[in-house]
Amino acid sequence: MTVWARKGGRPGGGFFVGGLLGALGVFILVLAKPRQTEVESVARSRGLVPCPHCAESIKQQARVCRYCQRDVAAAAVGSPA
Ligand SMILES: [Zn+2]
Repeated sequence: MTVWARKGGRPGGGFFVGGLLGALGVFILVLAKPRQTEVESVARSRGLVPCPHCAESIKQQARVCRYCQRDVAAAAVGSPA
């Protein structure tokens, strides 16, 4: 507190930094959300699809999910019955 006074800075400087950090947290949250969809689109372009059971990215051609070992052939590929 005395450092602010000595440098001739405003006493409200600490409060300003606190508000800035809070805004930064909101900013990071906003950034993180589109990033999730971005990751999904990148995975899709690589031939990966989200597992209908565990939502992990697996190959479109996969018959069994490598993460949860459940059958995903019918859901992912939509092969003729
Ligand atoms: Zn799975």
